[in-house]
Formats: sequence, structure tokens, C-alpha cells
Amino acid sequence: MADTEITIFDKIVSKQIPANIVYEDDLCLAFKDINPQAPIHFVLIPKNRDGLTQLSKAEDRHKNLLGHLMVAVSKIAAQEPLLKDGFRIVVNDGLHGGQSVYHIHIHIFGGTQLTWPPG
Ligand code: IMP
Repeated sequence: MADTEITIFDKIVSKQIPANIVYEDDLCLAFKDINPQAPIHFVLIPKNRDGLTQLSKAEDRHKNLLGHLMVAVSKIAAQEPLLKDGFRIVVNDGLHGGQSVYHIHIHIFGGTQLTWPPG
């Protein structure tokens, strides 16, 4: 898909469609997944994906943004009591990764004992 195509996540960032936001800073936004796969299932996105439709498009210039997202995961986990015993993050990439929205995002799962390996 084209880098510039508007996704549902762009519409959440621009508040065109509502989302249950759990964290926001200048660069990123996290909200409850509409189809949760665990008691806690958040989706963390950059507000401006800067060409990052998916992780496999990452280039050196994205290092700061990707690092920012990882630190945001830590902050989100710290503010959610149900994540105090741990959590899992997942980035689905492309067809075989099961990606459905082409705006890079990190899934945050928790609130239960997760099994391994994932499907
Ligand atoms: P992907 O399959 O890794 O691309 O993940 C996309 C995720 O976005 C899925 O888990 C969807 O349930 C979730 N999702 C899609 N639309 C919305 C929405 O409008 N609000 C919240 N989550 C959404």
C-alpha cells in the first residue's frame, strides 16, 4: 500500500473516529484494541508514521521514533496495574505476519498468563 494512504489509525490520530486512548505524548498514541485478544490489549502507534507502514520499511532515520515507541511501552505498562506482572508486545508485519492495518503499530498484551509460542 502507498505510504500516504489514509488508514483507520490516521483517523484515530486526527480524532475523526473515536478510540479509547490510554496513553498519548507528542509522538505517539496508545488505545484499546477494538477486538481484544487478551484482558489487556492496547495498540501503540506513532502519530506520524513517516513512511513506516510496517516494520520491514524501517530505515536508519526511524531509529529515534522506534526507540521512542519502546520507551512508551514501558510507560504504558507502568501505569496499567494489570500489566504489573508482565506483558507481551507483538509487531505483525505483512501478509505472513497477519498485518491488517498498514500504519506501524505495537500490540501490547497482558492481564493474564500468556502462552508460548504464539500462533
Ligand atoms: P494488525 O492485524 O497487526 O494490523 O492489527 C491491527 C489491529 O487494529 C487489530 O488488532 C484490530 O482489532 C485493531 N483495530 C482496527 N480498527 C480499530 C479501531 O478502530 N479501534 C481500535 N482498534 C482497531
